[in-house]
Amino acid sequence: MNGLTEQTALIDKLAAQEELSLSEYERLISGRDERSAEYLFSAARKVREKYYGKDVYIRGLIEFTNYCKNDCLYCGIRRSNANADRYRLDESEILDCCKEGWSLGFRTFVLQGGEDLSFDDEKICRIVSHIKRDFPDCAVTLSIGEKSRESYQAYFDAGADRYLLRHETANEEHYAMLHPSELSARERKRCLWDLKEIGYQVGTGFMVGSPYQTARHLAEDMLFIRELQPHMVGIGPFVPHHDTPFADMSGGSAELTLFMLGLIRLTLPKVLLPATTALGTIDPLGREKGILAGANVVMPNLSPLSVRKKYMLYDNKICTGDESAQCRACLKKRIAATGYKIVAARGDHCGVTEINI
Ligand code: SAH
Repeated sequence: MNGLTEQTALIDKLAAQEELSLSEYERLISGRDERSAEYLFSAARKVREKYYGKDVYIRGLIEFTNYCKNDCLYCGIRRSNANADRYRLDESEILDCCKEGWSLGFRTFVLQGGEDLSFDDEKICRIVSHIKRDFPDCAVTLSIGEKSRESYQAYFDAGADRYLLRHETANEEHYAMLHPSELSARERKRCLWDLKEIGYQVGTGFMVGSPYQTARHLAEDMLFIRELQPHMVGIGPFVPHHDTPFADMSGGSAELTLFMLGLIRLTLPKVLLPATTALGTIDPLGREKGILAGANVVMPNLSPLSVRKKYMLYDNKICTGDESAQCRACLKKRIAATGYKIVAARGDHCGVTEINI
């Protein structure tokens, strides 16, 4: 078989069986080229349209604190970065973001932050329950890192619907190259399994092109998400931040990120798959291309303008100078240009029947 035939045969097999072996994923990833990518994207679009039509869901991202007790080597808000200008929003500022978001058509709010111990469980539960009280038709997603099972349960009982926690890389040795020794892939995965058992709609994900990453690591990521069966998978290219130990490392490519989006869509046909800000940062049309590779979610920023530039996980992050309404309008146009359309809905996973309203 020539290269393209072998690639298209593997893509057909993945589309039919929703899984491949580790070495098949690895071969597909390392042997990819422009033509096999096009073939993959068209199969991925077919699958996403079967379940979600042309709809694109929006999530309003509220970056409520950039204090963090962790020291991940790639991240601009790691605790060792003394140059980060730290901030936290209080409850009323967070509720104001939701209010503005609601009027712009958002029905999901994602509260994301560093691991900031000043937001203890009681505070998080209060914020979640107040958002649910004021916006009962909206979903609340938390993305605040690794916690005990009891804490996750408490947030869920307070009304949180979803939780985002990227596994970052499924391979333990690779994980150890990206994180300080007190963090481990094992503990990160424990969190994800706990979140699933509790009943959250769970999102995981990984960076593409992170330092020392190989095609085999990416293949392992595919097997991990296949096993976990998350409702959402967020992936984006690694983008270096100048004040981190990885400042001089090269970043991930849009091309490989798009290919991985296509593979994820075929592996988890009903998954909620965002075209991320990091992808839009390294390619001006990255998010549009992401939608055309199988993504069906975008996550515009709802944080107050005054803090946008401070939540700098990586250099050159886009949309830090625009008001929420501008971001929303800009994305509407961009998505419409792809032939898809943004909808004002909670945008639950289409396999979820019971929701936590
Ligand atoms: N504290 C939360 C939120 C982390 S920030 C948590 O632990 O889940 C959200 C995501 O940004 C991370 O999971 C990571 O995948 C991504 N990220 C961080 N630094 C990055 C960088 N330099 N380039 C690209 N993505 C990055």
